[in-house]
Amino acid sequence: MIRFLDTIKKSINFSRLFILACLCVFTWKNHVWAQYESAPESYYLHQKLLNSIEFSDNSTTPLKGYWQYYPKQFIVKPSSVLKSETTSLPISFKELTGTNQNYGTFVGHFKIPKQYIGRRIAIFIPNEYGAYRMYLNGDFMLRLGEVGKDAKSHKTENAPKMAFFVLEKEYFTLTIQASNFDRLHGGLENPMRIGIAKTVSRQFQQLMMSIGLICGAVLGVGVFTLMFSVFQGEIGRSSIRVFVFGIFILFLALHNLFSAPYAYTAFTDLSWIWGRRLEYLFTYFAIATFLSYMYLLNRRYLHPIVYYVAMAIFIVDIVVTVFTEPEMFERLGFYSFLFSPVVLLNFAYGFYLTLKLKEPYSSTNVWAVILLCVTFLHDFLLTLNLIDSFNLSFLSTSFYALLIMFQQSKNYAHHTYHIEQLNNNLLELNNSLDNKVKERTSQLHRLNEQLERQIQIDALTGAYNRRALNAEIQRLFTLTQNHRNHTLAFAMLDVDYFKNYNDYYGHLKGDVILKDLVKVIQQALPSSAYVARYGGEEFAIILHNVPSAVVLNVLQQVLDAVRQMQMEHLNRPDQKSYVTLSMGVAWMDQDHEYVNIHELMKAADVQLYAAKHAGRDQYQARRA
Ligand code: GH3
Ligand code: MG
Ligand code: MG
Repeated sequence: MIRFLDTIKKSINFSRLFILACLCVFTWKNHVWAQYESAPESYYLHQKLLNSIEFSDNSTTPLKGYWQYYPKQFIVKPSSVLKSETTSLPISFKELTGTNQNYGTFVGHFKIPKQYIGRRIAIFIPNEYGAYRMYLNGDFMLRLGEVGKDAKSHKTENAPKMAFFVLEKEYFTLTIQASNFDRLHGGLENPMRIGIAKTVSRQFQQLMMSIGLICGAVLGVGVFTLMFSVFQGEIGRSSIRVFVFGIFILFLALHNLFSAPYAYTAFTDLSWIWGRRLEYLFTYFAIATFLSYMYLLNRRYLHPIVYYVAMAIFIVDIVVTVFTEPEMFERLGFYSFLFSPVVLLNFAYGFYLTLKLKEPYSSTNVWAVILLCVTFLHDFLLTLNLIDSFNLSFLSTSFYALLIMFQQSKNYAHHTYHIEQLNNNLLELNNSLDNKVKERTSQLHRLNEQLERQIQIDALTGAYNRRALNAEIQRLFTLTQNHRNHTLAFAMLDVDYFKNYNDYYGHLKGDVILKDLVKVIQQALPSSAYVARYGGEEFAIILHNVPSAVVLNVLQQVLDAVRQMQMEHLNRPDQKSYVTLSMGVAWMDQDHEYVNIHELMKAADVQLYAAKHAGRDQYQARRA
């Protein structure tokens, strides 16, 4: 009994001791905590939980280090009672707890360089999957989406964020409550950065600006392509395909603005639900216009049935996306995407046929299309949280737009060069043709003039011929008729005994005499006189506006000159032994005129006859 009582006593003592010990430990822990309550940083330092971070005016640093993670808890301040574990950031819920569908609180203690106390500090938080709330030293600072303990109360939001604050001490405690109910991503997976506000802002702006710039460039390509097609349409060339392609590029640019890293949040004040909607809508529009482009390019790449089914799916998707909540339209997007293998197989078959039939195709285009298909597939799977990766579409679509710019500008440059060459050739041809035509024309002019002269000139003597004489006498006759003070003298000349000359000296010598006679006659006359061969060994002289008092003297000089030449003619029946001429002259003015040239010429002929009969080597003259 005593033994039994002893045992009980002992056990009571033992229990007491145990309870006492427990109490002691608890009190000690509380005592230790209480001891550090006034200056917690020394506690964290002691526990090796304080993260020292270094940055400068111009550089930022990742907000890395050790954090306390409190699973399934939303708390604001660190707790000594609640269960926690030490971890480092960035980390996903999956790495931390085995599943991404989770929630909890991360608490980190940091020490910044002393010189930044009192200066504006900023933390840049890239897009994290899920929702979070952030507290600084227990005070609420910012949130994204709605943190919740179940899928209903939780709301995901996608955007990069910045938190600004000023510290009074070099120590601060950051508390991040995070929740996520998607399967593949969740937690604080992307690294946050800290620095002074100006530098963090600048880096953020640089990132947003570069995205904006690339989107702007892609947008520019789209607008250029659209305009190009519109102007092509104006000149009546088929342009619908280029037009659709331009719209596709425009949607591509907008899609890039609304997908990760969600640059639109820096430019607009859109609610995240509409941001998410637009991300989906622009994806649908971009893919739909791309499929339309491929359909217009060649029915082989997209069978009409496949194309119309795809378009019907897009219409349903677009309507549902506009009018319902993300849970609904995201799920529909997933189911719609099940149709994509059909489209891809159709593409592949189309390309296979093109290659098999050895038809010409643009290899750049093929590679670009393959790249685009793969990244759209990849990103859609990513958006639907079916694969663990990062967004590629921004890179690939920008790259695609650059490829198109590269090809288009190359084509355009080659094309314009080709056209320039053609133009130059045409210009050269035109020039040479012009020169040739000019040359030929002047040649023709010269020939014409020559011909004109030739048809007026007598071939043997070089004097004007009968034809020219007729025209000239008619012209001068009319002039004289119409003008007062004009005079006109017409003389007919005939070589004396020329038949005899030919008989004696031969025809060749006779020809020489005819030639020589013309020279002598021309030399004896003033330059205004007109000398023509009337026919055979007969000549005519026209003197226009030579005063009537002088006319006979002038003509007499001709006879004298011939006589003085003493051209031998030994076969004459008279006393003379040289060549002489006989001449009949008729002249007129306005007061004394002939009815027509025939009367004038006939009168001269009559006078010539008279001269012959009067003994030759002389003139006979008569005025009208
Ligand atoms: P007349 O003094 O009466 O005029 O005597 P003629 O012998 O000159 O007679 P006519 O005027 O009738 O003679 C014309 C001659 O002129 C005939 C022909 O032999 C010669 N004749 C005509 N044309 C040419 C020619 O082109 N060359 C040469 N050598 N002689 C010609
Ligand atoms: Mg004669
Ligand atoms: Mg004669």
